[in-house]
Amino acid sequence: METAALYNLFLQYPSVTTDSRICPKDSIFFALKGDRFNGNLFAEKAIEAGCAYAVVDEEPEKENDRIILVKDALHSLQKLANWHRKKLKIPIIGITGTNGKTTTKELVAVALSKEFKVAYTQGNLNNHIGVPLTLLSMNRSHEIGVVEMGASHPGDIKELCEIAEPNYGIVTNVGKAHMEGFGSFENLVATKCELYDFIREGKGKVFVNKDNPILYEQTEGMDRILYGKNDPSLFASGSIANATPFLEFDWSFFDNSYRVKTRLVGEFNFDNAIAAVAVSKFFGINAEQISAALEEYEPTNLRSQFKRTEKNDLIIDAYNANPTSMKAALEFFSSIPSSLSKMVILGEMKELGESSDEEHEKIVQLLKQQPYDKVYLVGSAFNKCTSENESFRLFDDVDLLIETLKKKPVSNHYILLKGSHSVHLEKAVDSL
Ligand code: ATP
Ligand code: MG
Repeated sequence: METAALYNLFLQYPSVTTDSRICPKDSIFFALKGDRFNGNLFAEKAIEAGCAYAVVDEEPEKENDRIILVKDALHSLQKLANWHRKKLKIPIIGITGTNGKTTTKELVAVALSKEFKVAYTQGNLNNHIGVPLTLLSMNRSHEIGVVEMGASHPGDIKELCEIAEPNYGIVTNVGKAHMEGFGSFENLVATKCELYDFIREGKGKVFVNKDNPILYEQTEGMDRILYGKNDPSLFASGSIANATPFLEFDWSFFDNSYRVKTRLVGEFNFDNAIAAVAVSKFFGINAEQISAALEEYEPTNLRSQFKRTEKNDLIIDAYNANPTSMKAALEFFSSIPSSLSKMVILGEMKELGESSDEEHEKIVQLLKQQPYDKVYLVGSAFNKCTSENESFRLFDDVDLLIETLKKKPVSNHYILLKGSHSVHLEKAVDSL
């Protein structure tokens, strides 16, 4: 079926699903294939469960006029999303980068929502399936779209840009993550900059952190808006007032200055917050509303949350980890004053490929320079590190860590938990 015909169907049934367990009435089911599943097998079930149509790319066993056979269901979904995006004619802000995409996306969305009806990526749906789904969740009532774009291989961001056609872009930062897929840091930078390339071509505008020399250089000559730290000549600038642990910062708008008390933990969130100030200021949100929005936003999903238990104070950052965000978290944690002894529990960083040993070793060396009472390292990637330090302990997995915490409870500590999601450090929270 041609995209135009599929789009006409979508206008009648303007909701899509790719999960046969979630079939809203009168939606269109797209049968996608993954390593462990084949959506084609669930097409009939999806229709029985309420979907109006199912788009499949394998001949159905029984003929069914509600099942539409296409060459490639994923491709059809992406083409449909792009067709819809073109019809919407609203500004779309694309956000990529190594760290802080989701946080920046959410902050931008809450600030813009003070004046506009904003559609934005739900959760972390930032890949070749999530981006189309985000676009297809937009309707005529929406005035601005904010789309998170993730990448793990060269070309990923280009592909997502061709679907979402952003007219505005932010690269939050560039750091080492998913090195397995990128091969080199240069490739990683080039991949994130595919967003700039697309916007340059379409004569759109980018928001750039002036404090990041790589991004500053990459956007030279582009139509850009600069933001950053301690530089009132920038379009949006602020200074950190406090981060113990919640980030507070000051920024000014003409002659007025504002103190924003966020619920974000960690100094590194300043960059995410000031990016949101820049975007929302550009779109005309007034300063009080921008500040209020940033104060109201509370992060979810284990992204830098603060928790006080009966025994300890915890910073739980068990959502993801890569060398850049690990270093940022450790630098921040070591710098905050506390009357309690400090402890860090780090989970290994996944997907680093060949650089894994070296990057874990660097983290261990950094830890040795910092004043921690205890350092617990979880995951086999830390095994090869030179951690012959009395305060260091190694655990193969989180269950062994929990066992130890039960036998030898830790109390009166200020504890940072950070690691890749698949290590599941959050499971240890109940034992702390
Ligand atoms: P993902 O690649 O999983 O989608 P993301 O880029 O969307 O991640 P967030 O979910 O916003 O990033 O943040 C995840 C973690 O990254 C945070 O808990 C924090 O530890 C770290 N982080 C967030 N922003 C920054 C930043 N500006 N600099 C360094 N680290 C950051
Ligand atoms: Mg994200």
